[in-house]
Amino acid sequence: MGTIDADFTGETVVVTGGSSGIGRAVATAFGDAGATVINADVRAAPKDVDAETPTHEAIEERGGTAAFVETDVSEPTQIETAIEAAREFGGVDVMVNNAGVHRSLGFLDVAPEDFDAVHGVNLRGAFFGTQLAARDMIHRGVDGAIVNTSSTTAERAERNHSHYAATKGGVQMLTRSAALELDGHGIRVNAVAPGPIATEIREGWSEEASEIGDSGSLPSRAGTPADLPGAYLYLASEGASYVTGETVWVDGGASL
Ligand code: NAD
Repeated sequence: MGTIDADFTGETVVVTGGSSGIGRAVATAFGDAGATVINADVRAAPKDVDAETPTHEAIEERGGTAAFVETDVSEPTQIETAIEAAREFGGVDVMVNNAGVHRSLGFLDVAPEDFDAVHGVNLRGAFFGTQLAARDMIHRGVDGAIVNTSSTTAERAERNHSHYAATKGGVQMLTRSAALELDGHGIRVNAVAPGPIATEIREGWSEEASEIGDSGSLPSRAGTPADLPGAYLYLASEGASYVTGETVWVDGGASL
């Protein structure tokens, strides 16, 4: 599993979209690393077909501390509620803006409602998640780390991803712009860009999946959520104290 040996004992981590897939793996890894984890998701139940126990309960079963706060990240006041919940545990030290949705549509077929729904979660959610977490860290006078979930589609065009890809391109520049403005406050902002990862978000996601594993092409295998936490833990850790505005590509070489 892609984790690193980092100790987050005494720190509080808010993970948006932590009920399923990548967010669940990341939240669980932070819990295993000693952090108190707040899962901010629209639903507590995992979407994953092979997971039944809500993330916060699974973390507690593993001996950790965690809570669930029902949160629609497209509504900033609800993000604020999740950050307030973190104050009960000392306040947010690490914010992971990971919640995301996808609608597989050809460019000519994207309706304004599709555009708004996907931008509302993926970009507006990450933007205000970053801003509100940073304000809270500054108010409490603590150094902090923010990690946003981008995607290889941020830089690589694929069919039927135009509005989704636009949100992830936005997440890239949000990450760099916020890193620039927050550096003086002791807050680092970075991103992780996953490649094709087997999660529920890919249901109906038209892709070149048949190419995965083809001789000579990368990635040589499909990724799983367990491939992701190491990058998040690294970027949030002291080991990355001189790393900000950066994107770590976790895609098995897909972007090569
Ligand atoms: P997933 O569908 O398994 O998990 C997404 C989670 O986000 C779910 O728990 C869902 O309930 C939650 N969510 C959806 N809308 C929300 C909202 N409005 N507020 C709060 N939570 C909300 O998908 P995943 O693959 O784990 O996706 C996680 C992130 O990774 C997303 O940002 C996605 O765009 C990104 N990503 C995924 C892939 C991939 O291949 N799976 C590749 C690149 C990037």
